[in-house]
Amino acid sequence: MNDKPYIPLSRPDIQPEDVEAVAELLRGGAIASDGPATKAAQAALSDAFGIPHVLLVTSATHAMELALMAWGIRPGDEVILPSFTFVSVATAIVRMGATPVFAEIEEPSLALDMADVERRRTPATRAIVLSHYAGIGMDPAPLLGWARRHGVKVFEDAAQCIGARYGDRWLGGLGDAACYSFHYTKNIGCGEGGAFLTADTALARKAEIIREKGTNRQKFLRGEVDKYRWVGEGSSFVLSEIHGALLGSQLQRLEAVTRRRMQLFNRYREALADLEDGRHLRLPFVPPDSQPNGHLFYVLLRDEETRDAMMDDLRARGVGATFHYVPLHSSPYATEHLGTKRGDFPVTESVCERLLRLPLYPAMTDDEAERVVGTFRDVFRQHALRP
Ligand SMILES: *Cc1c(COP(=O)(O)O)cnc(C)c1O
Repeated sequence: MNDKPYIPLSRPDIQPEDVEAVAELLRGGAIASDGPATKAAQAALSDAFGIPHVLLVTSATHAMELALMAWGIRPGDEVILPSFTFVSVATAIVRMGATPVFAEIEEPSLALDMADVERRRTPATRAIVLSHYAGIGMDPAPLLGWARRHGVKVFEDAAQCIGARYGDRWLGGLGDAACYSFHYTKNIGCGEGGAFLTADTALARKAEIIREKGTNRQKFLRGEVDKYRWVGEGSSFVLSEIHGALLGSQLQRLEAVTRRRMQLFNRYREALADLEDGRHLRLPFVPPDSQPNGHLFYVLLRDEETRDAMMDDLRARGVGATFHYVPLHSSPYATEHLGTKRGDFPVTESVCERLLRLPLYPAMTDDEAERVVGTFRDVFRQHALRP
């Protein structure tokens, strides 16, 4: 029955020029970190998004750890984050000895519910995570205003958001510090990698020391000191020059990749629009001021049973659909160490039970996109419309 090739959820976009960029670097032998490839990629990101300070790091997770370390987040401090997010946002906080405090999201934005955030604020609240699901920016003004009023730092988790905007601002440029991820599943990828972003010069100076094992090697590289030395706390979050070369090559295709992803995203929206009734099916909510980057396409179905049945059937018919995320507050670690439990965040739980992602990647052909749509419509008729 299934003679057509399986359409995976995503597929890394590696082109011959990427292979050549890495080969050329290796042939040249200049693989020392913070070399020309890293500098060029950092400058390209800084120019493209108007973000003054960009440091390439080993992952978005490490970019967040870098921000929390540079802010001096420590035991006793609390950081507010959605439970509806990727696990390493929470582990970064735990690693500082600080306490992750989950807050509820709201529909249809899937952004933090600011009334719930306010309920969870205490004198120990030091930072909050501004998160954009699917590379779709929601109005950040309420969260940014709240944080400013209460003297709370904003870490913007733009891991999925390179090339997306809200109004005239790029995502990644909204928080006091932010990250992009270059994990191979993201729009621009170099296997593993990330960027730490900030407009705050003092913070960038602290971060560059932490990133380089507590040394002032960056000052040395800029010619500001004649040797570099141990000057503070640190770790090693430096991206290798080899990854930097791959990243630089990928970044040259950012516009083309975003355009293709958005064509597919818009095709799915258009092709499923007639099924959207708010109850059996809800399509991604995109505010008028938001320009997404097509990172992923999701739908919300009626309930978990429908979602799981549809997911199984789609896979059996060659369409790599999947769910996203497992709520953090009801995970084994959180129930054991943070005292949260299933039932605490009903909107988060409902969204996680109903959310289904469909395949989306730049190399997907129009025929494959039509196969996804056709198969989805079949499976939806079969499972979702039962009384
Ligand atoms: C991918 C992702 C991360 C982690 O990125 P890494 O580069 O793998 O550390 C964090 N937050 C969100 C929302 C992500 O999608």
